[in-house]
Amino acid sequence: MMFKTHAAFGLLIAISTFYYFSNINKFLFIFVVFVSSVFLDIDEKHSNISHKLKPLSTIISFIFKHRGFVHSLLFIILFSATIFIFLGNYYIPFIIGALSHLFLDALTPAGIKLFYPFNIKIHGFFRTGSFFDYILFFLILVLIFFTGISKMGNYISLISIFHSNVAYANRPRRLYK
Ligand SMILES: [Zn+2]
Repeated sequence: MMFKTHAAFGLLIAISTFYYFSNINKFLFIFVVFVSSVFLDIDEKHSNISHKLKPLSTIISFIFKHRGFVHSLLFIILFSATIFIFLGNYYIPFIIGALSHLFLDALTPAGIKLFYPFNIKIHGFFRTGSFFDYILFFLILVLIFFTGISKMGNYISLISIFHSNVAYANRPRRLYK
């Protein structure tokens, strides 16, 4: 899929899931899911993320084939173990973002070798940059819009509950004598 489809899907998944992980900073959670959802294409020299992280992508794309090890469960397990050691719980948003990437790549004809080093390919029929890719991208944007509104609604109602409780606690009381 296109970079923007991956990025939009990552953002959608991030704003749909951050709510369930209360022990992680919500902004960092969304940020890590978002970055992870595009990070795996670091193994492709000409990808968008590789242009942003050139030195790293030069090394990784030299060692690994595109959609090989870096697009596998093995990589996700090893990388999240590393994150767990150094950054604790932030391996969770990484896994979520990375899986969102693999899911979209699995829809394309090139597919992914999910169980690398085993040579089992999982693939679909939707080409990167095709009409479907654009439709998917716009559909995701619509979902981001509505998810954003509903999450904002949750926050506003939480704030209003908080305020009404404060107002209730501070209500003027009649004094009985
Ligand atoms: Zn990819």
